[in-house]
Amino acid sequence: MSAPEQSAEAADTVDDAAGPAYTLALDVGGTGIKAGLVTRDGTLRCTWRRATRIERGPEAVIATIADFAAELVEAAAADGTPVAAAGFALPGIINEQTGVGVFSATVGWRDVPFGELLGARLAVPIAIGHDVRAGGVAEARIGAGRGSARFVFLPLGTSIGGAIMIDGVANLGPHGMGGEFGHIVVRPGGLPCGCGLHGCLAQYSSAGAVAARYAEAAGTPNVGALDVAARLATGDPIARRIWDEAVDVLSDALLTTAALLDPDRVVVGGGLAEAGATLMTPLGEALAAKATYHALPELVTAELGDLAGCLGAGLLAWDLVS
Ligand SMILES: [Zn+2]
Repeated sequence: MSAPEQSAEAADTVDDAAGPAYTLALDVGGTGIKAGLVTRDGTLRCTWRRATRIERGPEAVIATIADFAAELVEAAAADGTPVAAAGFALPGIINEQTGVGVFSATVGWRDVPFGELLGARLAVPIAIGHDVRAGGVAEARIGAGRGSARFVFLPLGTSIGGAIMIDGVANLGPHGMGGEFGHIVVRPGGLPCGCGLHGCLAQYSSAGAVAARYAEAAGTPNVGALDVAARLATGDPIARRIWDEAVDVLSDALLTTAALLDPDRVVVGGGLAEAGATLMTPLGEALAAKATYHALPELVTAELGDLAGCLGAGLLAWDLVS
């Protein structure tokens, strides 16, 4: 071995015998960027938020991400707690191997070499992850997916993403495109979807779809998916129709999921999961009623809420230095 046991660069990032206590994590969303310091065991210490302000265009958003991260890396070092690495959970199509943000419809960037760019700016190891898959990693290691050999992480948010988690790792497939549960066609010829198809799961069972469909049918804008859930108790027939259809469609998608993947668990997250038993009880009943030969997965709600992406980014960063 001709390499020295410890390089000068490595020595710069180690503040004592035990090494740094934190990684820096950023989760970039359409409205806000969440940031925090994450310990090796997945505890989130400090959290900061900054507006994404996508209306400024992709270049400005990328600059905000880099500036925000650089400020936090410098502040941590100034506090005597330099970070071991930094992890980023990003929206859209992400190549986690090369660290490239391939495309984000939300922010509008294309082929941004985030790994290279942020590595040069921050001078620490950089992990680039997809926001939903990073959330899946966090749920797998410290959340509702703990102890599962194979689970599906299904955040029902503005749209529907998804991650197939096998032994704590997101399984992507050779094209890096696996886990897009939101675009399973469950109602052929149904509602048009932004992906170009008709009848996709996301058009019925995302929090965004439930809210939008209610707003359109009832003529009352600014109603959230949880408001629709609350209106079920008042006997609101429009809320009842849209909610029941969301559950029915989702149970069809989960039956397909059970047939294809045989997961032991489905971890349901996102805004719609905050409805709790109002969603999960009828969903479990619908799935059980439709199943024939299937071994059905356990249905559970996610445990980490909207911090899953941030925690996952921090854990992915730890993987680089552990
Ligand atoms: Zn679609």
